[in-house]
Amino acid sequence: MMQVAGKAGAVLRIDLKAIRSNYRLLQGLLGSAQCGAAVKADAYGLGAIPVARALLEESCRHFFVAHLEEAISLRPHLPVEANIYVMHGSPVGYEAEFLEYGCIPVLNSAQQVLAWRDLAVKMQTRLPAILQCDTGMARMGLSPAELQQCLASSDFMQGIDLLYLMSHLASAEDQAHPMNQLQLQQFNAVRAAFPGVKASLANSSAIFLGKDFHFDLARPGAALYGVAPVAGQANPLQAVVHLQGRIIQTREIPAGAGVGYGASWRSQQASRIATVAVGYADGWLRSLSNRGVAQIAGHTVPMVGNVSMDTITLDVTGVAETHLQPGALVDLISTDNTVDKVAARAGTIGYEIITSLGGRYERTYSN
Ligand SMILES: *Cc1c(COP(=O)(O)O)cnc(C)c1O
Repeated sequence: MMQVAGKAGAVLRIDLKAIRSNYRLLQGLLGSAQCGAAVKADAYGLGAIPVARALLEESCRHFFVAHLEEAISLRPHLPVEANIYVMHGSPVGYEAEFLEYGCIPVLNSAQQVLAWRDLAVKMQTRLPAILQCDTGMARMGLSPAELQQCLASSDFMQGIDLLYLMSHLASAEDQAHPMNQLQLQQFNAVRAAFPGVKASLANSSAIFLGKDFHFDLARPGAALYGVAPVAGQANPLQAVVHLQGRIIQTREIPAGAGVGYGASWRSQQASRIATVAVGYADGWLRSLSNRGVAQIAGHTVPMVGNVSMDTITLDVTGVAETHLQPGALVDLISTDNTVDKVAARAGTIGYEIITSLGGRYERTYSN
């Protein structure tokens, strides 16, 4: 696709139709369990407001963010029947803001539980919350010991309307990892202490671990955005992110010439180099230096030299001149050169590629 007009160095197209289709696929796998959505970090860099609104049309009613601040920004854009959960819980002293803005905390520690309970008692009402238990990841939630201690006091959950018991898996993308079954067992042991309370365990990858992991509510993020959920298996989800960078100029170089900072690449032969207006300040990771590829009119061309702040350089030797005019767009992330392939070349995961996508792109949303 060649397009010459445009003031931005690159065009980022986010396919909301693909996000909706991915949501339907996940909801289908979940059967009677509900599919929520992780829209933290601005929906992994893709735009929390347009993404959440698209998912709302698919009847998604459960949205997860990390921080209270993210929930406050999103709240006016969603109807009251849509729940927004703050996975970090309340920052100390900000409990009342959850009521003011109609957001629900995930309680991760005895301290957070106590503060929420105190507010409920003070308001003489019942306040909704999710309770997170650590089942082995050692990152968030009450540890088994802390939970035991809390359960020993009868008024532990007084005034709290416990919507879900929640935990998070450490290794769900690796289906054979022993952690999955261990964490599931631990989660079921914790659940036994909360009869009748609904549960939420699955992120994207855990949805693919099967029914035992589904419980009542799943919280996928990455899979909605097209990132492959299962290591070593074909990705059943549609690509969501399409990134095209614009050619600024091209030049001929002789054999043996260095390209870019540090001359980290040298031409073996006379070559043509195209400079494209995307760099590490746009989230095009510097680790893609001499490792990334781009696509121009059916050619896959290597990124040569180091990634600069605002530019990359491509070896476009052999590509027809008509495709190399200033303003022409080259594909950096496409259905073919997926987020996961770019991540593998950069030595990272698809999550980091999309959450890094920069603020200088011309963004378009297709429905
Ligand atoms: C980010 C996050 C999710 C979503 O994870 P994905 O792997 O992107 O599906 C779910 N639950 C918790 C606790 C998270 O931090």
